[in-house]
Amino acid sequence: MGGRLMRWQPDTCEEFPFGGCVIEYDGPNELAFFTRVVRTCKRHRGLVGEDVHTAVHGENIRKNTAMAIAARVAALDLSKTDEIGFEFSSEQVLTLVFAPGTAGHLPSIRRELDAQYGPGVILVRIRP
Ligand SMILES: [Zn+2]
Repeated sequence: MGGRLMRWQPDTCEEFPFGGCVIEYDGPNELAFFTRVVRTCKRHRGLVGEDVHTAVHGENIRKNTAMAIAARVAALDLSKTDEIGFEFSSEQVLTLVFAPGTAGHLPSIRRELDAQYGPGVILVRIRP
């Protein structure tokens, strides 16, 4: 290959960063040529090789896209992690978690996510 081996630790994995998946690539980013899985997190332990890559990459894209949609609808700043967060269930269901001040935007965020992904595919809730 002649490329540079890079490691990616998806922030969507269980116990990121200390116990999360670590995936190695030959190239500049996670879309580059997959080489191997260095470590799998609890949630992805049942997967092997490129299936780990497919799963974590898909989750990461879904999380980033859903958060961008929510941020646009509610005019949130994605760099402020206290405004918007996320969690994946063991069944890989994504829930976006919002600060209490965002409660008024929840119906429109839910409506937009349902329109993009199908009803109830991505869940939303206000954190206590
Ligand atoms: Zn993982």
